[in-house]
Amino acid sequence: MKLENKNKTKKFNSPIRDVEGAIPWEFDPNATYSETTLNDNWLKLKPDEYHQYRKDWTEIPKNFTPINFPLHLDIETTTYCNLKCPMCPRTQLVEQGKFNENGFITRDQYMKIIDEGTEYNLRSIKLNYLGEPLMHKDIAWQIEYAKKKGVIDVIMNSNGAALNEKNSEALLRAGIDGLFISFDAVNPKDYETQRVGATLGRTIDNLYKFVKLRNEIRPSCQVRVSMVMYDDPKWMEQYKALQVMWKGVVDAVGYSWYTERDEEISGEYDYVSGFHCAQPFHRMFLKNNGNVTICCVDDKDEVIVGNWKEQKLYDIWNGEKYIDIRAKHSSGEYNKIDMCRKCYLPVSIKQPGIKQEKAAE
Ligand code: SF4
Repeated sequence: MKLENKNKTKKFNSPIRDVEGAIPWEFDPNATYSETTLNDNWLKLKPDEYHQYRKDWTEIPKNFTPINFPLHLDIETTTYCNLKCPMCPRTQLVEQGKFNENGFITRDQYMKIIDEGTEYNLRSIKLNYLGEPLMHKDIAWQIEYAKKKGVIDVIMNSNGAALNEKNSEALLRAGIDGLFISFDAVNPKDYETQRVGATLGRTIDNLYKFVKLRNEIRPSCQVRVSMVMYDDPKWMEQYKALQVMWKGVVDAVGYSWYTERDEEISGEYDYVSGFHCAQPFHRMFLKNNGNVTICCVDDKDEVIVGNWKEQKLYDIWNGEKYIDIRAKHSSGEYNKIDMCRKCYLPVSIKQPGIKQEKAAE
């Protein structure tokens, strides 16, 4: 059965910069994500090196500071997923027959990545791209290996449907530093049409158990829930309800705007003077198929800068293709890169006052 995202609308449905009164571009390394903090105890427990890394995360791309290895790697440890969420690029690629659904990174491949990365002071990794990281039987081992090698921040996104007490404890004892759960609504109907294959009550139960164990085993691990936002007041109401629902449990609630990836209806956007993207300057994405790409948007492998199965990561990061991409972004010519010209990021703006605002009472 073809899954249809009934919420999708034409183009990028967040506020855009070419409307009257739009604010000019201001550099922000997390420009499309907004968050409400509910609790920051976890942050107080982070070591100084974590705070320095987060400072570098903003300052390096902001100032175009050259670095010889990315601060962060996104590693697609598996392409398998237990859900079929209609807004997810993975679901859409699977339906078009353009996706290998069952890729799993091997231990040797993973060790090769982490060993080279930590040689160059790799600070952070995220263990997913298009796929559910809990589906990999090695997930706790992957976390533990990276932590033992000195990676400061080992994090992952998950839909939370497969979390249980056993794997929660294993993740925490392995040293996970952040768990970000995709969770879209407070009522079963809306939640289950967005997270197809999951049930609301089960995911809530899973997350409560994880947080209870987090508080006992690894209180420095950040836990947040985030949703996909649409241009419909109903979803902003859900966001406010999520803040109430999760207050006293998780550390933050956030959202990212839904973006249309279907080129037939998304098209291109106006050029935004002063824009440059952070991602080519501080992080790199390793797909399960070996392709290395420059950003989270490239689910169709449009800008491939190398192959991590065949090349050194150092050589890819310092290769001609990457250098050219960074030069275009630092000289205001991001629009000469096809994928960036079609990207929603330059035209997106945050809802004023949402980021880091106080939680709803
Ligand atoms: S497509 Fe270009 S502008 Fe958009 S997120 Fe990727 S690198 Fe940044």
